[in-house]
Amino acid sequence: MKNIVICGSTGSIGRQALDVCSWFPLRLRPVALVGGSNIQLLAAQVRQFKPQAVALADESKYADFKALLAEIPNCRTEILLGEAGVLQAAAWPAADMQVAAISGLAGLMPTLQGMAAGLDIAFANKEVLVAAGELVMQQVAESNSCFLPVDSEHSAIWQCLNSPEKPWTINREVSSLLLTCSGGPFRNADAAEIANAGVTETLRHPTWQMGAKITVDSATLLNKGLEVIEAHWLFNMPYEQIEAVIHPESIIHSMVQYSDGAVMAQLSYPDMRLPIQYALTYPERWANQLKPLNFAELSSLTFQKPDEERFPCFRLAREAGLAGGTMPAVLSGANEALVGAFLAGRIRLGQIADGLAAALAAHDNIIKPDLAAILQADKWARDFVANWLT
Ligand code: NDP
Repeated sequence: MKNIVICGSTGSIGRQALDVCSWFPLRLRPVALVGGSNIQLLAAQVRQFKPQAVALADESKYADFKALLAEIPNCRTEILLGEAGVLQAAAWPAADMQVAAISGLAGLMPTLQGMAAGLDIAFANKEVLVAAGELVMQQVAESNSCFLPVDSEHSAIWQCLNSPEKPWTINREVSSLLLTCSGGPFRNADAAEIANAGVTETLRHPTWQMGAKITVDSATLLNKGLEVIEAHWLFNMPYEQIEAVIHPESIIHSMVQYSDGAVMAQLSYPDMRLPIQYALTYPERWANQLKPLNFAELSSLTFQKPDEERFPCFRLAREAGLAGGTMPAVLSGANEALVGAFLAGRIRLGQIADGLAAALAAHDNIIKPDLAAILQADKWARDFVANWLT
């Protein structure tokens, strides 16, 4: 039996991680859950999974949450509150593994806390690696924790590497990592259509069902830029050897090219529960309820190069990654603020790239930042965007 903490259990990845746990009730047990503010769903999850602890980040909802748990017969789940409660649950003593699926930089401290407590980390939160990749990977190297990718592209690369060593150790015979990308809802749209897009059409992703923030990032292609930075840190690979390829069918989830020209790919229908399950069950593969790939159903698999003119966020992310230091933290923090403004209807989609470019141009980069400098750069970026928006 593997005991699991699910950080971000009320989100898209968290809910799917619980789905996977429910397929294997005798082998995967959620012992602690962490949610932000969705108390109805968090209480329903407590009712279904009966964890030892539940942490609610939004303290203002404590009274209502307590009332909801009081309705559950014989509920013995301990309630933890606020940032301190989230950190306590993230390193829950009975747990073997943490699913790191809080969105944004709010996931950084819970991830570090889980690793410090020796938990393996099933890692979904790309913003954390983008902002603090060097620091996080240093802690991974020094800890006994396994760091297991959940993001579908990075899981695919990890599976194609088929490395018997720690999953983040790259094989020296690898010549490049090829991250595939659906292209999002505006793959064939012209620049003006993309720039003026509103919330409804942006959230209509053609192949994946995901949380709102990552769906917007997929539409601007910033998500692929974030994933390039994530791959750079996870697999210790130079940026020049990481490429993105548009693959609208979302069947190939990424590829690894070896020095002799051979390419390994991982294929399946797009469903996050497969990479989540692989991280939870690694190194084993368990039969599940997912539909196996039927090649007779596939009419074609197509590929094209990402267009950096129509999708400037992709280029900006690569530049921030190459610049290093605090630039990626600024990219990620500014983007979180800009996506928030976009989802609130304050700006159009094209202004995300404008705001990002302005923030990156205005920032004085700090090379080799420590944790305090990263958090400061993130805050600086959010403040910059707040001013820029007004
Ligand atoms: P969602 O927005 O759906 O969920 C975010 C989760 O984080 C929710 O449970 C939310 O709680 C919780 N949360 C937010 N702020 C805090 C906080 N301060 N403290 C504690 N919990 C908090 O995001 P996704 O599930 O889509 O994505 C999660 C991460 O995984 C992101 O980094 C994303 O980039 C990455 N990812 C997602 C994929 C997907 O398919 N969705 C694919 C690959 C990677 P609440 O809702 O209760 O407020």
